[in-house]
Amino acid sequence: MKYISTRGNAPELTFEDVLLTGLATDGGLYVPKDVPQFSLEEIESWRDLPYTELAHKVIYPFVEGCVDSAALQKMLNEVYSGFGHKAVAPLQQIDHNEYVLELFHGPTLAFKDFALQLLGRLLDYVLERRHEKVVIMGATSGDTGSAAIEGTKACRNVDIFILHPHGKVSEVQRRQMTTVKGDNIFNIAIEGNFDQAQDMVKASFGNQQFLRGERKLVAVNSINWARIMAQIVYYFYSALNLGGPLRPMAYSVPTGNFGDIFAGYMAKKMGLPIEQLIIATNSNDVLHRLMSKNQYEVHPLQHTITPSMDIAVSSNFERLLFDLYDRDGAKLADLMARMNAKKDVVSLDEDKLAKARALFDSYAVNEDSTVTTMQEVFGETGYLLDPHTAIGVKAARECRRNPRIPMITLGTAHPVKFEDAVLRAGFDMPKLPHHLTDLMAREERMNVLPADLATVQSFIAEHTFKD
Ligand SMILES: *Cc1c(COP(=O)(O)O)cnc(C)c1O
Repeated sequence: MKYISTRGNAPELTFEDVLLTGLATDGGLYVPKDVPQFSLEEIESWRDLPYTELAHKVIYPFVEGCVDSAALQKMLNEVYSGFGHKAVAPLQQIDHNEYVLELFHGPTLAFKDFALQLLGRLLDYVLERRHEKVVIMGATSGDTGSAAIEGTKACRNVDIFILHPHGKVSEVQRRQMTTVKGDNIFNIAIEGNFDQAQDMVKASFGNQQFLRGERKLVAVNSINWARIMAQIVYYFYSALNLGGPLRPMAYSVPTGNFGDIFAGYMAKKMGLPIEQLIIATNSNDVLHRLMSKNQYEVHPLQHTITPSMDIAVSSNFERLLFDLYDRDGAKLADLMARMNAKKDVVSLDEDKLAKARALFDSYAVNEDSTVTTMQEVFGETGYLLDPHTAIGVKAARECRRNPRIPMITLGTAHPVKFEDAVLRAGFDMPKLPHHLTDLMAREERMNVLPADLATVQSFIAEHTFKD
């Protein structure tokens, strides 16, 4: 499988090189050149496969030529046997024909484990063969950092540096990062806000001179294709469990950077019958405004009780735009330049918008309505939703087109991670799952540094692969 940039002006890469890169050299994102296609008969024949074997069917075409088939299966077995639920991605019914797909049984209790656990193993596999080592650098306001650290803690060829804003991450989320043991893990608490941390990461990717020797930086945010790839699997898994592909499914996806929902769009392109895909956002609703009014306008970031969806721009949307504009890289480069200029309101061509609307519905949910939905669903079922998932459920109920088609909301996190929302909805905090019961007593390791690029970069250079 070859990968091409959405802006049409960067070299074609293999999976291996895409895995080890961030953005393409032309500023675009990598996407597969051809999308693997499965017939209904073939998908149907997978009905009885456990999660790990189904994952192999879906993922292998994307990595073929770079990762050996048996090695991939071994990695998948290791990754998903570490999850806290034997079904890996179980469905919870919340109403007639309405479900939550629980994606929070991984080590850090959010869906990001599905991809980042695999990413860590893929990196080590490829790096071992190439006799290379890389440095992961990322900024987090919560879920990504802990999932990336858990995913790479056992990697021999990866050092990982995660920046978080000092004192601005919840205690559970901070401890999920700072209590993980490993000589290759470095938590940097920046005396500043998330945007400052993010800017330092961007600047470091732009100029990697500060790293010693041949080292280079690898991105673990959802611009890394391997993350999207791993997330396609659970759309197939949930559909097969509810009678697909012989009947279509509808999905509602709590969305920030458009990674998780893009995986659903991929599943559909690969042949899974998906009738409806709903983009559910919080009040950072740049995508909903575009979809509903054809106005793309970046507003300042708002901090909400659903912090993992707090984004001002949605980076993976570019991957969809690439398809909407018939994979014309030059046109897309021009459109992205206008969208990123953040000066004028940008509109899509009417026919492109029509295509987007045929593929997606969208809905924005404010904080009050998020909390009300948590209360409502608890009242109806005794099931406590995390606030991100509640946004998905609310959007599902507002946008549903056909009540006879199963509606599946992606349950993106466990409520125990989001104390503010749980307390505001009037619930007691749920208990931490078994493997985390002593989280609050574990020893923490982090370095507090000023929000100064040179200081952070010299810290990283000093601590990278000392042996
Ligand atoms: C990351 C995250 C999201 C948003 O996912 P995207 O792929 O960025 O759209 C939603 N909910 C939770 C709990 C998350 O951690």
